[in-house]
Amino acid sequence: MIREFDTIFVHPEVANNPRTRELLGRVPHRRAVEIEQMEKLARRSREDPQSSVMRGKFNLALAPYKGRQVEPCPASPGMSCCCYRVINLVAGCPIDCSYCVLQGYLNRPTITVYPELEKIFSELEGELAAEWFVPPRYGTGELSDSLALDNLLRFSPELIRFFAKYPKSWFELKTKGAQVESILDVDPVPPNTVVSWSVNPQKVIDSEERFAASLDQRLEAAGQVRDAGYKLGFHFDPIFHYDRWRRDYREVVEKIYAVARSGDIAWISLGCLRYSPWMAPYYEERFAKHPLLAGELSLVPPDGKYRYPQPLRIEIYRALNEWIAERDSDVYVYLCMESATVFRWALGREVAGDCLGVERGFPPPPGWSG
Ligand code: SF4
Repeated sequence: MIREFDTIFVHPEVANNPRTRELLGRVPHRRAVEIEQMEKLARRSREDPQSSVMRGKFNLALAPYKGRQVEPCPASPGMSCCCYRVINLVAGCPIDCSYCVLQGYLNRPTITVYPELEKIFSELEGELAAEWFVPPRYGTGELSDSLALDNLLRFSPELIRFFAKYPKSWFELKTKGAQVESILDVDPVPPNTVVSWSVNPQKVIDSEERFAASLDQRLEAAGQVRDAGYKLGFHFDPIFHYDRWRRDYREVVEKIYAVARSGDIAWISLGCLRYSPWMAPYYEERFAKHPLLAGELSLVPPDGKYRYPQPLRIEIYRALNEWIAERDSDVYVYLCMESATVFRWALGREVAGDCLGVERGFPPPPGWSG
């Protein structure tokens, strides 16, 4: 994990923000540069993806966010959606997962941090004042890892405390890290914050999740936050198919339940490897020798992403769901970016094809009925 950045670029609009000043004092860096036109930092025209992506992990930008900072998760067309709402707090990530969509999606070779949290709070206050028919769920783990830099940024405790005032909503932090010190200081821990780990067998982590914590480190951190009073979540995502996947993924389930007891976990999601065709050049350039990424995938309508064949995905989901149910028959398990048909055959559950199909099944936060 990065401890020192090369350059911190600061947009003049946020230069006097108290969080900017704190971050410049706290985040180790070689130099700070004020720059108004952040677009000038865009990828160099002849720069190859490898150097552009890697350069982006060693520079930080502090910038104002233009547009709405809280928005619906960009669900895949035709797939059952879980109505997640994403908070764009940081764009870019110090971890380097081979399959990460951000390497092709963000064209600025920096990790961009938006220190104006008041803008986020104001958008959230507007949304949360509305009447919700299902509990809204929010998370910061869409454009970055929620906790990988939080020991430096310390934004998550502010958000956790904000959501404590809205007990009818869920707030989720998603990570592949093991650095949880920043959130262990929150006291009292609100019951509507879920701290989630993306999990994979150690073989996959070693091969595909560079700079991320090991499985054992993630689960040890999960035990710490559970002891502090947080609800846990786990995301088997992306799941890779390879020989001995059954043995390895079953072991991950067993390791989770060696740390967590039934009732500690708010939800578990399952999602097999998938990617858009426009990601292929990044994989070829950066990860050509990764056999796990080179499994046989085909273009699947209606969202046109590469996926394992449907019968194989169903087999994988069924197996994982059964192993989880053997340990914990009460936990809510759902699929990420899958159709209502796959839900039916894999989990034996009917979900509507619309965006509320999955959401209606989610466990309500403790304050929902209060
Ligand atoms: S942790 Fe998430 S955001 Fe970071 S590189 Fe991996 S997939 Fe991308």
